[in-house]
Amino acid sequence: MSELAKYVRVVIDQETCISCGACIEVCPFDALEFDDNMKARLIWEKCQDDFSCIASCPVDCIYKTEEAPDEYKAKEGWYRIEKELTPEEQKAFEEWRNKYNVTADPVS
Ligand code: SF4
Ligand code: SF4
Repeated sequence: MSELAKYVRVVIDQETCISCGACIEVCPFDALEFDDNMKARLIWEKCQDDFSCIASCPVDCIYKTEEAPDEYKAKEGWYRIEKELTPEEQKAFEEWRNKYNVTADPVS
């Protein structure tokens, strides 16, 4: 496994998200944002696993990827990749998807 693939990252159930912005405010790595529907969305390559977003969410709709239900990991829209990934990052991304059975593609 590559060094970058150690990160678990998070999954967001956007249907439950109430657009409060708490997770975006608390994330120390600017890894969360609002999408066009004012739902929280992860910027995949920025997340570094401190998990403060999970504790901040008033409706408990953010999960460690390793604990997220498969149905949420299959939904489109909850994460995107902001920058062009290096080959190492691309490898880590694929390892992460395979390891945690993330079947949704990132928002392009
Ligand atoms: S786990 Fe930490 S770094 Fe990742 S999105 Fe949540 S608050 Fe940000
Ligand atoms: S803290 Fe929870 S409800 Fe609030 S914006 Fe983030 S995901 Fe949505």
